Amino acid sequence: MTSHLRIGRACTVAALLLGAGTLRLTLDADWLPAAALAYGTLVVTLGARLEYGSHRRALEQAEWARRHALGEEPLAPLDPCCPLWRMSRTVHAPDCTDVRFRAITAQLDDIDTRDSA
Ligand SMILES: [Zn+2]
Repeated sequence: MTSHLRIGRACTVAALLLGAGTLRLTLDADWLPAAALAYGTLVVTLGARLEYGSHRRALEQAEWARRHALGEEPLAPLDPCCPLWRMSRTVHAPDCTDVRFRAITAQLDDIDTRDSA
């Protein structure tokens, strides 16, 4: 179990509780608090969705790394190949699942290490 799964489950429980509170307040016609709880429910639901996605990605990346370590070739990269690529579109993370960029990143790290020594 990853930490993402634990947080996702906690967010799901929070969303259910907030949703129940929203329903209760709506039945009592307390519109302003109901709207605030509905917004909270939405935010927590979004958090749960993101955490479950991160959990799935962590499992896929671990499986990819296991197969790569066993020397399975050719191994298709995940889509997106790494979280850094998803955020920047210019650089790749050292644990990138695209072997071509992983090699380039390792070479750049070697150059940086030699320059700083
Ligand atoms: Zn990448």
